[in-house]
Amino acid sequence: MYLVKDKISLITGASRGIGRAIALKLAENGSHIAFTYLSSEQKAKNLEEEIKKLGVKVKAYKCDASNFDDCTQLIDSIIKDFERIDVLVNNAGITRDNLLLRMSEEDWDKVITTNLKSTFSTVKAASKYFMKQRSGSIVNISSIIGIKGNGGQANYAASKAGVIGFSKSVAIELGPRGIRCNVIAPGWIETDMTNALPDKYKDEIIKYIPLRRVGKPKEIAECALFLASNLSQYITGQVIKVDGGILT
Ligand code: NAP
Repeated sequence: MYLVKDKISLITGASRGIGRAIALKLAENGSHIAFTYLSSEQKAKNLEEEIKKLGVKVKAYKCDASNFDDCTQLIDSIIKDFERIDVLVNNAGITRDNLLLRMSEEDWDKVITTNLKSTFSTVKAASKYFMKQRSGSIVNISSIIGIKGNGGQANYAASKAGVIGFSKSVAIELGPRGIRCNVIAPGWIETDMTNALPDKYKDEIIKYIPLRRVGKPKEIAECALFLASNLSQYITGQVIKVDGGILT
């Protein structure tokens, strides 16, 4: 069964990791795919080729998620190219970890604009179209760090907590127009972002995960597919933790 057949889905930051897995999962389930990247141009081209083979339309857009005007233009380009938008997945994100007293203003601003402001920018621009259609599903990628906090990640935790507050507000504001907005809070997922961590640290964390393993990008993608599709049509304003039980 194709759960998102002929929908138009935008996934930000899909050249690698979780975003890439979400783009593939939605395409495998019949959605046409628009996705963004910033620096990984070759990887974006490879993903375009891979998705084309699944028999759906696909287009990669270079777009800096932290730039409001770029995000607004991105949504307008997608409407021009695909004629509508049904699913918006805000996934692009970065870390710039440091202890509070060593954290620069630049690293604070970079993380907040890339992870949080980006979500405001795309949701604001896409909502104009969602409201005309009286439908739309927004899936914002937060993190369990946005729920519990973490030493050395004050900027990242603030950005991801912000995504949760923002998304709940959007769900309340746009629900009456048939637009849903939900959040996925991944735990520790194996991607370039977490591969940068030292092995010693990884072994320590696994002890606190009830399922005793790190997650895979495809396990976040499966939740994103559920939230994007009509299987979740009475669910909005929710935060789903996909974390192997770590925050239980
Ligand atoms: P990743 O492997 O580092 O990939 C990050 C993606 O975001 C890349 O495709 C990158 O594109 C894109 N990106 C970064 N800055 C961007 C910008 N300014 N504009 C557009 N795209 C940008 O990260 P990941 O682990 O897949 O993480 C994806 C999301 O899940 C993030 O929001 C992250 O915070 C969240 N998350 C991850 C984990 C985890 O354990 N991995 C846990 C909780 C939450 P380019 O390569 O083209 O620059």
